[in-house]
Amino acid sequence: EPSTETRRFETEVSQLLQLMIHSLYSNREIFLRELISNGADACDKLRFEALAQPDAIPQPAELVIDVEVDAEARTVTVRDNGIGMSRDEVVEHIGTIARSGTKAFLEKLTGDQKKDSQLIGQFGVGFYSSFIVADHVRLETRRAGSEQDAGTRWESRGDGEYTIAPCERTEAGTEITLTLKEDAGEFLEPVRLRHIIGRYSDHVAFPIRMRKQDEEGNPTDDWETVNRASALWTRSKSEISDEEYREFYKHVAHDFEDPAAWTHNHVEGRQEYTTLFYIPKRAPFDLWDRDARHGVKLYVKRVFIMDDADKLLPNYLRFVRGVVDSADLPLNVSREILQDNRLVDSIRSGSVKKILGLLESIAKNEPEAYAEIWQNFGRVLKEGPGEDFANQEAIAKLLRFASTHNSDDTQNVALADYLERMKEGQEAIYVITADNASAARNSPHLEIFRKHGIEVLLLSDRVDEWLLSHLREFDGKPIKNVAKGDLDLDKIIGEDVEQKDETGEQAAEGDLGDLPERLQQALGDRVESVRPSRRLVESPACIVLGEHEMALYLQELLKQAGQ
Ligand code: ADP
Ligand code: MG
Repeated sequence: EPSTETRRFETEVSQLLQLMIHSLYSNREIFLRELISNGADACDKLRFEALAQPDAIPQPAELVIDVEVDAEARTVTVRDNGIGMSRDEVVEHIGTIARSGTKAFLEKLTGDQKKDSQLIGQFGVGFYSSFIVADHVRLETRRAGSEQDAGTRWESRGDGEYTIAPCERTEAGTEITLTLKEDAGEFLEPVRLRHIIGRYSDHVAFPIRMRKQDEEGNPTDDWETVNRASALWTRSKSEISDEEYREFYKHVAHDFEDPAAWTHNHVEGRQEYTTLFYIPKRAPFDLWDRDARHGVKLYVKRVFIMDDADKLLPNYLRFVRGVVDSADLPLNVSREILQDNRLVDSIRSGSVKKILGLLESIAKNEPEAYAEIWQNFGRVLKEGPGEDFANQEAIAKLLRFASTHNSDDTQNVALADYLERMKEGQEAIYVITADNASAARNSPHLEIFRKHGIEVLLLSDRVDEWLLSHLREFDGKPIKNVAKGDLDLDKIIGEDVEQKDETGEQAAEGDLGDLPERLQQALGDRVESVRPSRRLVESPACIVLGEHEMALYLQELLKQAGQ
């Protein structure tokens, strides 16, 4: 039988708490949004589990989130009758941060309030934001389907320790009571709380209730719903304000910042579904983590089915957040069913089109906003042509590269821009890959191109080799790596660059004599051939790879990885 235990937070949690309290102070009302958001998630989960196992999990008459004030005790309470937590779940979810990369994340924090609050936003503030306004937090919870005495009480002052103890709870669900700090008295005003709920949580699909007040402003026994309580995505676009879209984003994405853009669509026809997708403003800190969570939520007829339904979007769109609500999928749909389902396939391809269309229109109409999106998610989008052949062309239009046309290494040249600047007689799009931007820009392979004013795209992201191996052409023009295979520049510069002629007759001015031959002998098996060439203008020699050979730095990487 477990009894009261005092435990210490993980070091990371204590650190995060201190930083959060410090850096989010001027925005502290968001604690209420975070607690309500958790209550709504818990109600979603309960409804789903009650459907899946009606005998084990009773569904309350109505799922609600109540917000209550006790002015005398200086407390604000947020209570839901959602899924609740077992003792183990409390220990796991409240008091630890089970996300890889947390430590590395904390090391990035600088102590500069503005920068840190952005970073913390990327991390997600969640439950811990309670401590911005409270000096004591009590959480009581009981998992739906468990016995009355299986409740758990968790308490903390946010100072590094918490206690956890068993308790009785007549209803399943979770109740969080904040004892407000001296300077947070404003949150004891019901009017203020209603205002915050209206602002941040109006979109929550469950009723958020507060006590009615009598003429003197005292709380009565009657409750009233203070939000709209209908799922936002089911409403028509023209009725939803940008502000509402933004607040809903913060709820689904567990983000703290506004989104960069969204697209909301209702599809009817062979099947009926609604999608609402968002492009975040910043990459979540775990974008590169294979187990990163919080992608797209799947609903069936407004009933929450699962988080992070990764089958609904391809991997290269894993930074997209939002909701898919299908009217046709069965309510008991599982991850396995999603794997191989005709309906899901068609939702997925419709969704991809919408998202690519959104990106394309931003690229066209708001180039500055697109530049930011590209900076955050470009490397992920570059996985696209290899993963999604059907949309290769649409994805190719979204790609941006550094180029010899620019003096810096910003990736802002579209393939279409390149086509416009192509030289008379030029038939290929020239690119070079290297393991960093400066190596690409300074490669001796570029000398001949520079000399003749031919633009070359500079590719130095890890994913670029992969991209090139799938994206072979754009608008009918082959994409050619200048470090590989033969160069065919004679049509543009009016002379043959490659001296394939054995005699080396046309070879560059000075007479090379038997130098190529001697080099060939000296290098033996390590090279396939040594040839005179006009590729070079200043450098004496360079390595040219076979048309289908792997880039040198990749070969090196694989060797290091023991391949
Ligand atoms: P997030 O919501 O982004 O997961 P939070 O810090 O807000 O992060 O919450 C952490 C976790 O604690 C949740 O994922 C959930 O498992 C659990 N939790 C928090 N509040 C509740 C609640 N009211 N009911 C059930 N579980 C909750
Ligand atoms: Mg949360």
